[in-house]
Amino acid sequence: EEYVVVNFYHLVDIPRPHEVINNHRAWMEGREVRGRIYISEQGINAQYGGLRKDAEGYARWLADTQPLFKGLLYTVWPVEGHQYPKLRLKYRPNLISLAGGMQALPITDPAARAIPTPPTEWKRMLSEGQRTGEMPLVLDVRNSYEWDAGHFPCHLPPPPLLLLAQSAPHATPLPPALLPQNADPDRPVMIYCTGGIRCDVYGTYLRKKGFNKLYTLEGGIQNYMREEGLDHWNGSLFVFDGRMAIRPNKDKEEELEAAAPCQVCGATAVLPHMNCANIDCNKLFIACDACKTKFSGCCCEACTAAPRL
Ligand SMILES: [Zn+2]
Ligand SMILES: [Zn+2]
Repeated sequence: EEYVVVNFYHLVDIPRPHEVINNHRAWMEGREVRGRIYISEQGINAQYGGLRKDAEGYARWLADTQPLFKGLLYTVWPVEGHQYPKLRLKYRPNLISLAGGMQALPITDPAARAIPTPPTEWKRMLSEGQRTGEMPLVLDVRNSYEWDAGHFPCHLPPPPLLLLAQSAPHATPLPPALLPQNADPDRPVMIYCTGGIRCDVYGTYLRKKGFNKLYTLEGGIQNYMREEGLDHWNGSLFVFDGRMAIRPNKDKEEELEAAAPCQVCGATAVLPHMNCANIDCNKLFIACDACKTKFSGCCCEACTAAPRL
């Protein structure tokens, strides 16, 4: 049987989220769906997978029959088997982790957000920027370990602590770049993330800060890769499921190259990320095949001598 991973989010006012959750749970009865589906007063954020008929069926059921979720844009990736351990369909006040929470941001109002930019237009803007030398600020609003796996060529890190996810002390230092607070508010800003929700939240935040020309990559990198492949993209894409990293049109045996080098020796690193085999270290790191073997899954030589492996 065929399995898929499905990703979508939809920002919309949901006056009674718990009723919606009960309705969705009833639909899930007897179906093979696992993953994270969060619903709040501000919408839905879903990363999940399962049998194609059930997983894709859920997205289609929402888009076709549930007025709140009309026009829902979702991506579907064929995978081998389940990529999530269980289904967590629940209320979560913040659809993404954000310092200070996201309830105060008017994210359900499309006019308060950045301009959604289809992949073809996104690609054209990057090419145009390279050709003319007038590159918009390209802002990656993911975590640094996601950046290490792969990214667009330009990068602007979000202000520290705005996006709160797992801290990533292992990460490669980010290239120096202008922070948004030093940037000209009329310079175009292109914002991207994996699926689009972090962009929409951050775009709304920047609009409140006075930035005028804000563009978000519609459907995120996943949608871009499906439509434009790897144009302008370095490396692979970090994903939050059992696969950990993907790359479009990859054949089965091909290794997934990271954009950042091996954190041990500096050679080309191969994904997925690993957690150091030393339980007391547990650092998330990327390495080349040779170093993974040489240090038996540890992040450095010192960890190979640790007492708890
Ligand atoms: Zn290495
Ligand atoms: Zn270690």
